[in-house]
Parts: sequence; C-alpha cells; structure tokens
Amino acid sequence: MPSRKTTILVAGALAAGLSSPRRVANAAPQSTPRESARSTGAPTESNSPAPEFSAADSELRDFVERFSTDRAALSRRYPVEQSPERIARLKPFYDDWKGQLARTSFEPLGVEGRIDHVLLRHQLDYELRLLEREEGWLRETAPLLPFVPRILALNDARLRMETLEPAAAASTLDKLASDVTATARKPVEANRASKLAAFRAQEELASLKQVLQSWYDFYAGYDPVFTWWALAPYKKVVSALDGYRSSLRENVLGIQPKGGGDEPIVGTPIGREALVADLASEMIPYTPEDLLAVADREFAWCEAEMKKASREMGFGENAQAALEKVKTLYVEPGKQPDLIRDLAREAEAYVEQNDLVTVPPLAKEVWRMQMMSPERQKVNPFFTGGEVISVSFPTDTMDHDDKLMSLRGNNVHFARATVFHELIPGHHLQGFMNARYNAHRRAFRTPFWGEGWALYWEMLLWDRGFQKTPENRVGMLFWRMHRAARIIFSLSFHLGEMSPQDCIDFLVDRGGHERANATAEVRRSFNGSYPPLYQLAYMMGGLQFRALHEELVGSGRMTNREFHDAVLRGGTMPVEMVRARLTKQILARDHRASWKFAGPLRQGYGGQGPLKAAK
Ligand SMILES: [Zn+2]
Repeated sequence: MPSRKTTILVAGALAAGLSSPRRVANAAPQSTPRESARSTGAPTESNSPAPEFSAADSELRDFVERFSTDRAALSRRYPVEQSPERIARLKPFYDDWKGQLARTSFEPLGVEGRIDHVLLRHQLDYELRLLEREEGWLRETAPLLPFVPRILALNDARLRMETLEPAAAASTLDKLASDVTATARKPVEANRASKLAAFRAQEELASLKQVLQSWYDFYAGYDPVFTWWALAPYKKVVSALDGYRSSLRENVLGIQPKGGGDEPIVGTPIGREALVADLASEMIPYTPEDLLAVADREFAWCEAEMKKASREMGFGENAQAALEKVKTLYVEPGKQPDLIRDLAREAEAYVEQNDLVTVPPLAKEVWRMQMMSPERQKVNPFFTGGEVISVSFPTDTMDHDDKLMSLRGNNVHFARATVFHELIPGHHLQGFMNARYNAHRRAFRTPFWGEGWALYWEMLLWDRGFQKTPENRVGMLFWRMHRAARIIFSLSFHLGEMSPQDCIDFLVDRGGHERANATAEVRRSFNGSYPPLYQLAYMMGGLQFRALHEELVGSGRMTNREFHDAVLRGGTMPVEMVRARLTKQILARDHRASWKFAGPLRQGYGGQGPLKAAK
C-alpha cells in the first residue's frame, strides 16, 4: 500500500515525541539581543523578535503532544496499513479524541489555545476521512484479493500474542497457497477502473508478502515444531503470491518483467469530492477550478516575465531559446559543491543584511552537504534540502545523455534560485525553528506551511530584486512557472482530466523541463508517497504568506523581521491559522476557513488555461 499523509504525519509525530524539546524550548527565556550581546559578548541575533510572538504558550500544548505520542504508539502496535484491526482501532481512537476535544472548555482559551483546538479538530476529521478513503480502496481491490483477510489474521493473532498451533497454521498456509493460485487463474477485465484496482492489488501483494514473512520469521527456528510443519506450505504461499503478482503486472497492466524498463506511473486519482474535502482540511476556501484559474494567472505572469528576460538576453520573443542558453551555464565537473556553498552563504548574508529574519548562528553552523547518488537522482533530479542539502550533479558512472541532462538541470541560475529555498531562510531554518518553538505543532505539519514558506521567499526575494541578471531571472522564473504547472498537472490528474503521460508532456512542452526530469517529477507526485495536495501547496501556501506579508508588513504593522520570526516561532499549521495568530484573532469554536488570499480571479474559468491550450 502506498503510504499517504498519515505516514508523513506519524513520522513527524514520532520525531516530536522522541526529541520532546518542548520543556527546554519553553523554559528558555527570550533574551533581547542587547542582553544576549552583553552576557555573551557575541555579536549575534542582532535584533529582537517581537516579544508578544515569542513562542507564546498554548493551553493545549500537552494535550496535542499526548495525542501525537499516543497515535505514534498505536501506529507501532498496528503496523500493517491494510489490517482491519488497525482501522478498527484507529477509528475509535480518533473518535475518542474528538470526544475529549468536545469536552474541553473553549471559552477560557486564549489565542494560541483556540488555534490548537481548531487545528486538532480539523486534524481528527481529516484522519477519519482518510481511513474511510483507505477502506474504499481496499474494497475496490478485495475482489482481486479474496484471501487477504486470512493472511492478515495470521499476523494480527501474532501481534495479539496468541499461542500458535503449528499444525493448524500449516493447514491454513496450504489452503492459502491453492486459493491464491485459483484466484490468479480468474480472468480480469482490462478497463481503466479495473486496471487501477489491479495496480493497487499488485502493490498490496508485495506488502502482504512482507507481512507474511515477518509472521513466519517470528516463529521459524525458535519453535522447531512450527518449522517442521510450516516451512513447505509457507514457501508454496510465497511462490503463489509472487506468481499472481507477476501475472497481474504482465497480463493486466502490461508491465515488462524485471529489467524490462522503468515501472509505469499509475497513481490513484482521488476525484473532485475528495479534493474538496482535503482543501477544507487545509483551510483553503477555494474550489479546484478556482485554483486552476490562479495557476493560469500565475503561469501567464511567468511567461510574460520570461519574454522580458529573453529580450534582454538577445533572444527576442523566443523565451525557449533563452531558457536553453541558461541551461548551458553550468559549472565544471567537481565545482558544484563550491557553487552551492557560495550561493547558500550569499542568501544568508542577504537576509541578515536586509534585516529580514533572525538567523540563529547555530542554524548557520550546523547545516551540511552531501552528494546525491545516481540512483536517487532518478527520482530527485534537483537538490533537496533541510539540515542536509543533497546535491544533484552528474557522476562518472552516468550515461552520457544522463550526464548532460543533469548538468543542464543543475545549472548555476536554477541553483541560485532555490538554494535558499532548501536552506536558509527555507527548509533548514524552518526545521531548526520547528524543533525549538511550539514543537507540539508538528502534529499539524502541512506542505502549505512547509513548501509555501520556502516558495514565498522566492517571491519575496524576486520582489526585492535579489536577481541581478536576466539569466538569474530566467532561473527564478523557471521554478516559479514549475510551481504553477504543479497545480495544473496535479489537480487535473486527481480530477481525472490528465493521465500521467499527459502530465509529463505538459511539463516538457509548457514548463521547459528535460523529459527525464519531468518523468521523475510526475513519478514522485503520484507514486503514493506525497499527499494529493502536496504539489499545489507550494504556490498556494506561497500566495497565502505573500498576502499576509502585504497585510501586516505592507501596512507597517510589523517589520519584515518581526513578521518572519513570528511565523517561524509559531510552528507549522495551515496559513489561515498563522494569520489568526499574528492578527490575534479570537477564533470561534467552529471556525471554518474563509480567508480569500488569492486576489481577483477570472470568472467562468474552464477552458482557456494553459492545460487546455497545451492539448
Ligand atoms: Zn521545498
């Protein structure tokens, strides 16, 4: 089964539970810079953040942290995603927390406590809906996998620590082997819906094999009677599962056997209704069609700016030629680490000299660099960031074409536009602050905050003239256009209007991508490890932060630095809640998203956008 948002959230919750930095972060008084300079003599953190936003206490801090820790414990106890026991346990767990939340008295809560209350309610509703969605997917694959409950039951009994009867277990395995083989012989219709179900079924078969193996390994060798009975029928089941999986892949899905080319990109479109529900969870009060109109508008802006840069570079209206030229401006092999380091230091100096955000000296000190393996570059053609920036650059073992493509995709100007997105003030600074202020809010982690913030800095730096040359601008615009393109292709895919192949063609034809990079991007988007709204969260979150910046800094109510520090210290959450914090809204208990951040939209969208024009 593909992992979805749950997995990402659980990982975050685990990290929060294990490091538990809350007390420490909370106990550390916020010294003013003058004080800290006096006490340490260090010329660091030169300006103070606005004290009223310095990680203010939420009354629900412990409550939220306990929720995350409990859920992480349950996820470890019920590790198999498709197990009915897991679903049967998580539903009442979330319902129970909803009940607890309902019994909390809301009126005495302050701004921060009310925000956590609203966030947790949204989170619980989202989790319950996600469980229902997963159940729906399991129902669709059930006719192809009628034997699954019996495999899961074996493992669930082990997790309950029930005493095993080796002879009975062997009979169950033997019967399973013949049932799997019999199921594999049944013909499967080859329409689109059944292909999607078959794709998920073959993924489920792969994970079931692992479940069965962990069950078998628990006893094998430790219980000689078990091995005597179970070894032979266990091998039969494994071979039947393998055979069935290959048959689904080759005969129904048309996938070449191992070594015969790349895995196809199938993915699961979630449909309009689920998109609308997910948008509500993220507090985005727009329809998918509205968001496509926003993407259309942003895309058009990028294309116009690209043309301006193209003219300045001497390519006239031929922006494609200007882009091609920029792609040839890469450093010599071996020099990429130096380039990335210098670009990172340039961005750090820029935000500090312009007094845009507080950068703790430790944050600058601890980030590190590593080189990305050729294998990882197949799914991550560009660098990735956080505390460690992984640098994508060709290696000596790559095919000649791959080398050239990687050089072109990692040219100087593309890199200059996004090194700060990955490090400071982007993902590294976010992660650094998240772990130190309001860490309990990692339970509410969302790409609208995570990617939205990083993209917002690309917009802000553009507006402030960080770009020095037309080539710099082409680099920045390439990415910005890419974020608009992500909205278009990911929404269109989930609405059932574009296939993965359409998405790849769109990125190449309209987004100026190298084909292999476009394929990697689409694969990454739909292979199940990203939640459906992830790709549109960049630009939508970015536009939210930008609108909020205009509201608070543009109006003179906050300085740049106060604003950015306040966002980072508040912790991760949908941006509408960031706005509630910074404007000190006294939220109502049943708060619903209403903030229209995206500016004017063209009415009656539905046919003129780049998506339709591309076809
Ligand atoms: Zn990012």
